[in-house]
Amino acid sequence: MTIDPTPRPSFSAPDPKAPSRSVAIVGGGITGLTCAFWLARQGVPVTVFEADDRVGGVIRSVSRDGYLAEFGPNSILETSPKIVALIRDAGLEGRRLYSSPEAENRYLVRGGRPISLPASPFKFFGTRLFSTGAKLRLLIEPFVRRAPADQEETVAAFVLRRLGREWLDYAINPMIAGIYAGDPTRLSVRHAFPRLHTVEQRYGSLILGQFLGARERRRRGEVSKQEARKVSFDQGLQVLTDALAAYLGPAVRCRTAVHGLTRTAAGWRVVARTGETEQTSEHAGVLLAVPAHRLADLAIEGASAPSLDRLREIHYPPVASVVLGFRRSEVVHPLDGFGMLIPAVEPFRILGTLFSSSLFPHRAPEGHVTLTSYVGGVRAPDLALRPEEELYSITVADLRQLLGVRGEPTFRHTVCYPRAIPQYEVGYGRYKDLMDNLERTAPGVFLAGHFRNGISLGDSIIAGHDVADRIAAWLPR
Ligand SMILES: Cc1cc2nc3c(=O)[nH]c(=O)nc-3n(C[C@H](O)[C@H](O)[C@H](O)COP(=O)(O)OP(=O)(O)OC[C@H]3O[C@@H](n4cnc5c(N)ncnc54)[C@H](O)[C@@H]3O)c2cc1C
Repeated sequence: MTIDPTPRPSFSAPDPKAPSRSVAIVGGGITGLTCAFWLARQGVPVTVFEADDRVGGVIRSVSRDGYLAEFGPNSILETSPKIVALIRDAGLEGRRLYSSPEAENRYLVRGGRPISLPASPFKFFGTRLFSTGAKLRLLIEPFVRRAPADQEETVAAFVLRRLGREWLDYAINPMIAGIYAGDPTRLSVRHAFPRLHTVEQRYGSLILGQFLGARERRRRGEVSKQEARKVSFDQGLQVLTDALAAYLGPAVRCRTAVHGLTRTAAGWRVVARTGETEQTSEHAGVLLAVPAHRLADLAIEGASAPSLDRLREIHYPPVASVVLGFRRSEVVHPLDGFGMLIPAVEPFRILGTLFSSSLFPHRAPEGHVTLTSYVGGVRAPDLALRPEEELYSITVADLRQLLGVRGEPTFRHTVCYPRAIPQYEVGYGRYKDLMDNLERTAPGVFLAGHFRNGISLGDSIIAGHDVADRIAAWLPR
């Protein structure tokens, strides 16, 4: 399924006399599309403005020579009924794929080798991944005093205090490279991992909270990120954003970048540009769902709204994704898992690798495998920006050592996101306060997306759903 990016008149075409329920969605990534979809299903006229010539934002899938490569994200964690509902209502249940049960192993690299993470508490005591000291350290975790509620700590300080150095270096550091491409000495535990902060405050222990919190999650119908099923589609994640755009039809305007909003008596005038042509349209409400550095570029006039200029400071490190195909016979490792993560203390340059063809079917031709590696992030930002040929050599060199890859790749696909993932660092609260302040002082303007509600795809889908509810409740009946 593909969408026609040609700008066409929207069913909420500019009508200065009747903007009473029309909503402008700025940004056609998963957040903006999810919100537009839910509003449109409730009969609210929407227009999606997307600067690029396609929707999807960082979600993009490409099929070539029997391989399927994802440009950015690879899977959605099905943590909430809102994600299940979106896939169902977009008519995609038949195309949804859950990751293979054989791909449950997760590998962490220690001593230059990938070692499987123990799957059960019983197996945990036998693993070579952690020393006896680190294992025993878990037993005293419930007795470590909680931090004062108003104290903002880095993730590193939090983990050192509760679990010690080995857990930081060999569990948390690689996990953060895998999720944020980030650095635990900079990320804020309160903003980057709000659940950890809440669990410590509520139960005084992460281990106790793990058990007691599960009951509450079940009551809400939610699943923890560790237990959630990983979802993709037969032709990759882009199937989802294409389906949402197809439902919205002419309400999606590609190649149309919004650069300003002006307050009017009835709502907001959206000023956008398609090529050299400037166009304005009137709307009752506006959702801003673009990256933070793009929000900072927007001119918002006529309200006592604060300037969003400071959002430019939010740190988005570059990340490159290197997708390689190999003959199965030329990779020694069994690839019997989700992938491997690499701690910064190990002498490698990639951040980690997904065993993509073990996770989902249709990722590689018969007798071949696909490996997706990430380079750069906060750990080594300059590496992500190296020329494609160098990225490829860096990745292949690490894969030879770690997975016993022998032959030359049969498939290559490299892409760099110069500003990939926002880092919720210590002090991120001042940006969230600014966003709250904007919504208060510019009634009818809403903000949602990876810069506010959590960085994962699941978070973005939930944010798109929730902001649609907020907008629908705010619109005049
Ligand atoms: C390399 C990489 C790998 C990732 N892997 C995973 C993963 O495996 N699992 C996971 O859960 N998450 C992953 N993520 C995170 C997740 O993909 C993102 O957080 C999520 O897709 C963000 O969606 P969004 O709609 O908020 O923003 P975006 O996808 O950034 O969409 C914003 C849209 O706004 C448009 N835009 C910008 N300026 C304007 C303007 N002025 N006017 C109109 N439109 C504009 C952009 O063109 C873009 O389409 C990954 C991210 C990256 C970069």
